[in-house]
Amino acid sequence: MLKDMIQKWLPFLFLSLLIIWWISIKIAQPLHQLAYYTENSTENSQEEHIEKVVAWYYEAIQLKKSLLHSLVFLHNRVNYFMYQATTDPLTKLTNRRTMDQQMQNWAANRVPFSIILLDIDRFKRVNDTYGHSVGDEVLKFLAEQMKEVSRQTDICCRFGGEEFVILLPYTDKTEAFHVAERLRMNMESSISPCGEIVTISIGVSSYPTCTSEMTKLIEQVDECLYNAKKSGRNRTIVFEPNHE
Ligand code: GH3
Ligand code: MG
Ligand code: MG
Repeated sequence: MLKDMIQKWLPFLFLSLLIIWWISIKIAQPLHQLAYYTENSTENSQEEHIEKVVAWYYEAIQLKKSLLHSLVFLHNRVNYFMYQATTDPLTKLTNRRTMDQQMQNWAANRVPFSIILLDIDRFKRVNDTYGHSVGDEVLKFLAEQMKEVSRQTDICCRFGGEEFVILLPYTDKTEAFHVAERLRMNMESSISPCGEIVTISIGVSSYPTCTSEMTKLIEQVDECLYNAKKSGRNRTIVFEPNHE
């Protein structure tokens, strides 16, 4: 009887086990994949992978949905805070901290670049005459002009107050001078939001031809800018290493 039972039921039992095993795998598979992608959720492409997970039962569908929702939320927050931490709120240009990091980064990788430092001429008078908010509009106007003359790879920064910087990778002093002059002439020939022409003075230097130290580079452009102011404003002065 036992033999008969085994012969009759064993294949059925075996088939049942096989089906249970297959169903368990199918149930566990989406959970396993979701758990795996959650572990690596800081990587940007994870949403695409999670989208592809086949969640075929209620719990997995809900889990997938909420995971995707949290990831999108997390990435949006990260991007928002990254933007806030790297951007000047008034002009939307790169802030000073990010500018310093970028310069250090290029120096570490031996990327040659030029730096343009510019300062608005007699800006205090603009504020005193038209008010601080009109002054702010002039700053925004200048920021737009800076973007207009620079390339996509250049980085336009607000250095502080009414001083701005353009970093130009793989650009020598002469090319940087032409960019600076284009900007200066654009400002000189357009009416700014305060209703009158606002000019700028500019200093230009470059790495590593003028110096390989970042603090020195800033000192050099600052010195050129100072000389541009001293010699009458509304002009560009390029740093000459032999004048040191
Ligand atoms: P110079 O030609 O020598 O550069 O003269 P200046 O008047 O531009 O120089 P100064 O450094 O005396 O004045 C800079 C002014 O910039 C003073 C300050 O109130 C103004 N300023 C700095 N930051 C801002 C800002 O965010 N908004 C406005 N509206 N003004 C600002
Ligand atoms: Mg100034
Ligand atoms: Mg000024």
